[in-house]
Amino acid sequence: MHASLRAKSLVQTIRTCFCSSSLCKPELDESRFIVPSRKNISQLLKLKPPLIPLNQILALTVTHSFTADSLLTHSLIHCYLSCNSIVTARYLFDYSCSYSFSPSTLFWNLMIRAYSKQLIHSSESVVLFKKMMLGFCCPDKYTFTFVMTSCSRQMSVVFGQSVHALVIKYGYAFDLYVGNSLINLYCVFVRMGDAQKVFDGMLKRDVFSWTSLVAGYAKQGEMDRACKIFGLMPSYNEVSWAVMISGYVGSGRYVEALQYFRDMLCYDSNVKSNEAVFASALSACAHLGALDHGKWIHFYMKKFMICVASNISTALIDMYAKCGKIDCASQVFNELSHPDVQNFTSMITGFANHGLGKDALRVFNQMLAKQVKPNEITFLGVLNGCSHAGLVEEGSSIFFNMESLWGIVPKLEHYGCYVDLLGRAGYLEKAFRTVKNMPMKPDIVIWRALLSACRVHRDVKLGELIINHIEQLDYSRHGGGAVLLSNLYASLGRWDRVAQLRKVMGVRTNNLSIGCSWIELNGVVHKFRVADKSHPQVLEIRDKLSEILRRVRIAGYITNTMPVSFDLTEEEKEQAMAWHSEKLAVAFGLMSTEPGTCIRIVKNLRTCEDCHAALKAISNVYCREIIVRDRTRFHTFKEGNCLCNDYW
Ligand code: ZN
Ligand code: ZN
Repeated sequence: MHASLRAKSLVQTIRTCFCSSSLCKPELDESRFIVPSRKNISQLLKLKPPLIPLNQILALTVTHSFTADSLLTHSLIHCYLSCNSIVTARYLFDYSCSYSFSPSTLFWNLMIRAYSKQLIHSSESVVLFKKMMLGFCCPDKYTFTFVMTSCSRQMSVVFGQSVHALVIKYGYAFDLYVGNSLINLYCVFVRMGDAQKVFDGMLKRDVFSWTSLVAGYAKQGEMDRACKIFGLMPSYNEVSWAVMISGYVGSGRYVEALQYFRDMLCYDSNVKSNEAVFASALSACAHLGALDHGKWIHFYMKKFMICVASNISTALIDMYAKCGKIDCASQVFNELSHPDVQNFTSMITGFANHGLGKDALRVFNQMLAKQVKPNEITFLGVLNGCSHAGLVEEGSSIFFNMESLWGIVPKLEHYGCYVDLLGRAGYLEKAFRTVKNMPMKPDIVIWRALLSACRVHRDVKLGELIINHIEQLDYSRHGGGAVLLSNLYASLGRWDRVAQLRKVMGVRTNNLSIGCSWIELNGVVHKFRVADKSHPQVLEIRDKLSEILRRVRIAGYITNTMPVSFDLTEEEKEQAMAWHSEKLAVAFGLMSTEPGTCIRIVKNLRTCEDCHAALKAISNVYCREIIVRDRTRFHTFKEGNCLCNDYW
């Protein structure tokens, strides 16, 4: 647009603005228009929020050629940026650059910084940086900091490296802020060697330099290294604690995560209101089934009135549900005024894992009534719920309407839930047909669900057919499948096939997950592994377990040696089964708690048939309620039975 034309249209803007403004009312025709001074406009800009619309000020500035005044233009651009109008700010910047003056480093920094903060247009800050260099304007330490932020957003490590070279050239290599953003940049690209080099070379470091480095190692899963550096830190802020706690949660080291959480509250009274920390700690409690810890965190949050944002309420619902307290989860959920999709999903999943399909379905319908759009995970939850409660009709209708009503294409996992739903209800043929006609290749999980259904409904013929299919799967990618198959052969007594499979699997068997159980007693989480000898009370626990097994055998429990896949004698097999981690945890629970208290255990793998039978018998003989959360669901053992009805 031609300059005079542009000015004319701006005058138009002034008119509209003045008419609606409370400051300069109302009669404005061009003849009576008084030209404001530069000082007037500067004063107007200082009012927050500006009483006159910004556009009006912009118009005044441009029409009266105040753009030549760099200070005024600078504050105007600043105003636009703080109102998130980056497009207008850029327009003014470009306009002043072309017509009024050559911008100083301060100007360039203003725009480069604004773009570096943006998610979508952050590349524009690199473009401006290049223009700045071509215009022979000297970058300062702030320019470098902003450009590196933008590089880490755009994932361009190569350009980042050339900026690093420029940093050295312009003599900012030893600057604290520049060093911090360099560490941050290299950590984002997980180039810990480079990050460490920058860190080691710094003359001065602050809490951000240390935290960035710790975060880098935590991101890479090198928690021991991160822990060592954390220990050397002279001071901490809430981000440094959050980095450690979420790092441990991310690497599955939940006990340590809780330890750090406690340390944070004990030693650092300034750090109290970081949402991410609470969400991570609650997630650690959920994984460990550490109900006392979780309750305490909830109490603490109430006491200090820590605002419960959506992610924290989701974490709370999840924690209570995973610790077996579905009523508390539901209470947290009911207290929410506007539950979002994450809140609904974690409530539905919670009900489903507890076998409460009707409740899962009720919450799902509530969600639809409130017009909250379900996501993929919501469907997994609700289908799972239907499957555990035998709601075939409801589940099928949801599964077949996923795409047409809610625009979500069923994935392999959804097919898995549907097949499980059919299989559990005894529609084996239909389930088998579904698997064969699926648009994607069925995986070992689906076959395993179907095979369990065949076992329960005693369909040997279909079972064999499924084994044929499983055998065709590629073992190199399905470690879990090979173990399943080898267990299956072991249960059929076909040791030749077991040996063959073990040879194929080779060394990889060592990397498979080891059975692990946790029990929380008086705020301490105790961990047991199969045939564990590491617990300080190991001898007592073993004695107690032998006594327990003796007593339950008298009551009629027989060791089921089927799940042992080694070619051992019956007696050896019995020994191998006796030391499964959940049995050790139960023995420890029985000897350390008052009679009649409920024992809660969390297991990382699916509980085996023998442990299931033993726990049923123990709940009867010792009159205890035992709640075990295994990888797939909850088992509540009471008076010799389990709420899962032996189907899991
Ligand atoms: Zn077991
Ligand atoms: Zn059960």
